[in-house]
Amino acid sequence: MNRIVAKRVVTTFHSFKVVRRGLSNDAVIGANSPSTNDQVNTAYKEKLDLTNDPYDIAVVGGGMVGMAFACALSSMPLTKQLNVAIIDSNPALGKQDNIKKDDLPDPRVSTVTPAAISFFKDIGAWQYVLQHRHAYFDKMQVWDYTGLGYTRYTASDVETDILGCVVENKVLQSSLLSCLQKNTEFQKTVYPSRLTSMTVGLPTQPNSATSGIAKLDLSDGNSLFAKLVVGADGGKSRVRELAGIKTTGWNYSQNAVICTVKHAVENHCAWQRFLPAGPIALLPIGDNFSNIVWTMSPKEASDCKAMSEDDFLKAVNHALDYGYGPHPQSNSDGYSGDHSWEVPPNVIELASERMVFPLSLKHAKDYVANRVVLIGDAAHTVHPLAGQGVNLGFGDASALSKIIADGVAVGADLGELSLLKKYEAERKPANLMMAAILDGFQKAYSVDFGPVNILRAAAFQVAHYVSPLRRNIISYATGRQKWPLLF
Ligand SMILES: Cc1cc2nc3c(=O)[nH]c(=O)nc-3n(C[C@H](O)[C@H](O)[C@H](O)COP(=O)(O)OP(=O)(O)OC[C@H]3O[C@@H](n4cnc5c(N)ncnc54)[C@H](O)[C@@H]3O)c2cc1C
Repeated sequence: MNRIVAKRVVTTFHSFKVVRRGLSNDAVIGANSPSTNDQVNTAYKEKLDLTNDPYDIAVVGGGMVGMAFACALSSMPLTKQLNVAIIDSNPALGKQDNIKKDDLPDPRVSTVTPAAISFFKDIGAWQYVLQHRHAYFDKMQVWDYTGLGYTRYTASDVETDILGCVVENKVLQSSLLSCLQKNTEFQKTVYPSRLTSMTVGLPTQPNSATSGIAKLDLSDGNSLFAKLVVGADGGKSRVRELAGIKTTGWNYSQNAVICTVKHAVENHCAWQRFLPAGPIALLPIGDNFSNIVWTMSPKEASDCKAMSEDDFLKAVNHALDYGYGPHPQSNSDGYSGDHSWEVPPNVIELASERMVFPLSLKHAKDYVANRVVLIGDAAHTVHPLAGQGVNLGFGDASALSKIIADGVAVGADLGELSLLKKYEAERKPANLMMAAILDGFQKAYSVDFGPVNILRAAAFQVAHYVSPLRRNIISYATGRQKWPLLF
């Protein structure tokens, strides 16, 4: 009996290898994998233990950041030879692009910075974004409810055409998937499953120069082996937890209410007003639609979600106009009309469901461990008030892919800590700086107290009127400059 099982297992094992090596330029390991019965499963894993050719890289999490990283690998001559596994149970990963341009915009969107757009262009993914709804914006207005100050930026302040582009998350993800599917040379295998456990440091073969490989066990019973595990599995990262990497941070006692709304006219500006309970942002998404990201207390958020559509629209228009305080005054400042304060376009219709997200700050104490590296929200979760979260993740994906290419060029072991530390040295200070700035903003706007209000207003005025500072802020926020306050 045992022999029969073993024979069956070996056969299945070989067919699995054929899938991986043959069509594996684009394989999906699914329900037919040899994992349905425990006996088979154990023998299957034992057989796999003997393998000398683990994946070069296993990417856990095929969200926007994990997919961007895989795409970056597929786009570079040195890394497109790597054999990569992507693990995520999100059904979107198994689908062809089925997003229609006339679908109503999804409320989950990202403001993509010019730096992230350049990265998408470099890896060949931006052309797919352009086939879907997206909205470039060249103006940004930020003000607060006291009416004491405001700041308004335009792309021409930094001699560029755009300040950013708002894109639905599902469009970013599907564009990255299309890009990956187009790069047929790249060997990738998608596992529609979830990582459950991980063992790092398994020996490859006797006298091997490598210090060991990682074994990943999946929720569908499959196991795989990799020289490097990339944790791109979001804020509650299982990879981070299994690697024993600690985090620092806290929950903000704030939730974000997000939704799509409609105007009578098209919106080309990104608006943000700081209210006593948190900021409300109105971001253009194209075709007379905008996206709302409104931060407030958890109680207010559940009230906002529950109220009638009419009441919600009134609350939004109130929050973006005269509600809570007067309009700021546009002083004569020598600037053209483009820098004068304007009232945002009126919202006339709710065009999606309202979704509520709790907000937190979380930062991994280490980004790397033996054969493990974290990118995106797995390494850092920040407050969404400046739309930076996924942009930081794209910065991680870009940096890590280049460091891996350097490693391939010199024949390095990709899981080696000294190589991974170069990535940590590049990204950790930059991400920490942005997280600290956003946290500072969140705290400064959590206080409603006369002198503090005046100080904040003064900061707005300085940011508005001092040209070098103004250029500096825009360059940092748009990802063109790595550090703030460099003149
Ligand atoms: C209200 C709100 C508005 C925001 N707006 C912006 C914005 O305008 N601009 C911006 O830059 N950022 C914004 N962000 C932040 C942005 O959404 C996140 O930074 C981004 O989604 C992180 O992407 P990620 O791929 O790292 O993680 P995620 O999007 O969380 O993806 C993680 C993936 O890992 C998979 N996964 C999880 N666990 C496992 C497991 N055990 N095994 C296998 N797979 C697993 C999940 O299925 C998922 O597909 C906003 C956030 C919020 C809450």
